[in-house]
Amino acid sequence: MLFNDRIMDRENVVDIEDRGYQFGDGIYEVIGVYDGKPLMLDEHMERLERSAKEIKLNMGLIDDLKTKLEELVSANNLEEGIIYMQVSRGAAARWHEFPKADTPTVTVAYTRAENRTNNVEDQGATAVLTEDIRWLRCDIKTLNLLPNVMAKQEAVEHGAIEAILHRGEIVTEASASNVFIVKDGTLYTHPADNYILNGITRRKIIQLCEALNLKVNEQTYTVDELLDADEVFISATKLDVVPILKVDDHTIGNGEPGEITKQIVQEFRSLY
Ligand code: PLP
Repeated sequence: MLFNDRIMDRENVVDIEDRGYQFGDGIYEVIGVYDGKPLMLDEHMERLERSAKEIKLNMGLIDDLKTKLEELVSANNLEEGIIYMQVSRGAAARWHEFPKADTPTVTVAYTRAENRTNNVEDQGATAVLTEDIRWLRCDIKTLNLLPNVMAKQEAVEHGAIEAILHRGEIVTEASASNVFIVKDGTLYTHPADNYILNGITRRKIIQLCEALNLKVNEQTYTVDELLDADEVFISATKLDVVPILKVDDHTIGNGEPGEITKQIVQEFRSLY
């Protein structure tokens, strides 16, 4: 694992007064690794920097971190899987306010080997709907994930891959992925504002659609529009693009992965 600037054996290095552990006071990234190379590492590092800025966390140089993460992947001989990394506001006596400015942040990272065993991207999956009860800064990738954890658990208890979240009538995203719908050949996805995390996979899909001459509207849509869509899919790192065939008891389109979704799955695969 990476602990600050050292690659070392994985051991219990977390201080019980680490602010990430006690308050969820920190930020993180999950980066896919294919053929021994982190995918879209620059984009992940840029988002990390932005998250740091938004929570007023002063972290070290991103270029150094990037190099360290690449070193970690080769030290672990990782061919396919993920890098998990987080930066917390450091360890200090437990008071809610920020610790003294000279308290060093704590950066940790490790890798996990993962192969895709069941081809969920080809087969599709189901989702459930649940109210989005998160705070109003979902654009920051912070360690505070309890509402996401609760939503995902609800999905799993219903045999579904994801919980699609809605604030009142408006669909925002899912517990750990972004949501796209397709209607009459046009894609719709919630705009990248404070209500969603602007996924790196989401951004890449929007770019790919431009090249494919597919129109993407970054605009809100309702739960009814989701249920009435021709196609629905979710996107996230390593999950990539997964067709959603059923939402609660509602079949989407003809209940099979749609043509546009299949095209995007193919295009995304060609990136690695
Ligand atoms: N939305 C949420 C809430 C997430 O947690 C994630 C990823 O974990 C995403 C969207 C997808 O982001 P990315 O494509 O960068 O993995």
